[in-house]
Amino acid sequence: MRTLYYNAYIITMEEGIGILEDGALLVNNNLIEDIGNSDDMLKKYTNNNKVDFEGKIMLPGFVNTHTHSVLTVLKGLAEDVNTIKAVYGWMTTVNEIITEEDSYILSRLGQLEILSSGSTTIVENSTKMNGVAKASEELGNRIVLSAGKIHDYELEPIRRGQYIYNKEIGKQTMEEAMLLIEKWNGKADGRITCNLYPHATETCSMEILKEIASISKNEKMGVTLHMAQNTREVQRIREVYDKSPIEYMESVGLLNRNLISAHCVFLEDSDIELMGNVNSTLAHCPVIINKRGFTAPTLKAKKEHVNISLGTDNMFGDIIDTMRYVLTSSRIRTGIIEDFTSKEVLEMATLNGARAIGREDDLGSLKIGKIADFIILNKDSINLLGYNSENIYDLIVLYCDGSDVEKIYVDGKKVLDKKVDTDLISKVIKEGLKVSEKIWSKLETFDL
Ligand SMILES: [Zn+2]
Repeated sequence: MRTLYYNAYIITMEEGIGILEDGALLVNNNLIEDIGNSDDMLKKYTNNNKVDFEGKIMLPGFVNTHTHSVLTVLKGLAEDVNTIKAVYGWMTTVNEIITEEDSYILSRLGQLEILSSGSTTIVENSTKMNGVAKASEELGNRIVLSAGKIHDYELEPIRRGQYIYNKEIGKQTMEEAMLLIEKWNGKADGRITCNLYPHATETCSMEILKEIASISKNEKMGVTLHMAQNTREVQRIREVYDKSPIEYMESVGLLNRNLISAHCVFLEDSDIELMGNVNSTLAHCPVIINKRGFTAPTLKAKKEHVNISLGTDNMFGDIIDTMRYVLTSSRIRTGIIEDFTSKEVLEMATLNGARAIGREDDLGSLKIGKIADFIILNKDSINLLGYNSENIYDLIVLYCDGSDVEKIYVDGKKVLDKKVDTDLISKVIKEGLKVSEKIWSKLETFDL
């Protein structure tokens, strides 16, 4: 089926096309078949469905490269604590006590929050992932399921500084990863894919990381993990291996362009150079990291050609708001105002995200041959006051937020229209609240 979407202000994020002020997009099934000026395209394509976007702003859907949708349940709880307490106290506990059904309901809530702010693709890192996949299948977004949360050090004792090796956990989480991949990779018309997810550098032995590297190479599968996210991790890897976390990943064969390293807060300059040499990805999640008092060395990463993508991480889903944090946190860290342009930040959320998941050929921008994942912004928002081709990138990055997104299309289909789908939105929130209340009452019994 072909549909012509016309009368749109299209920000293609594609060099050579740029902005089409009165643009049209011809979508055939899930692919962009043509793009151009509305008048020309209306004359050229007469026998197909037509949708008039009434001058609204169209952008490629955002590729959000680090999320934990289930952890929406911790909004307002795991706050004002350091990363170690948040991760190995609150988050580990939630992951242990939820059922697959809880995961489905909570993840649907989290994924809806993320989707409604414009992220059409997410790299999702949870446990009980069958529930997460089911939620995505229903919502219609695109998801890379990070498989296994593979680790062979027990998680909870790390909160007290204890590292307990447990080969059985390694075996079990690796098996879970393989089962998930078998069940979901390529499902939902290809919207669901999988990558490998070793949890973090200090929770995985060298042995298990080498096994993951070998599977990744043989199956051509991407890998993602938490990298250099707290000082204890860095200290631990230094004590045991006499390496930095990045050097540790390099030594097991995992530092390459198929690796997405989330956070990367505590990096040495030499680590950034190593990442840049192989065009590896830094999934920058400034909202959560800033809340914990830090930020990633993004300016140095840009200079060394690291692929910087964006993530909303946990308890939060608005990637447009995240873009503003990219600029403010970098400028506070370096004092340099000319560090990034707004357009570069928008590229992090689109093209760089697509590159991070190895999908630069079909996602991340709007051009012929790519998949039709796009979003529509409300042009009448006060945040976009007086927009033109000169200021539009600044207005989006510095002033807009997720509430300015009106409609979301994935794989050529409209999956969410916020003005129309109000019943769906209330149902997801209501059911999410019910399960959240159950989890909150259970959490009260833990010493977190
Ligand atoms: Zn994370």
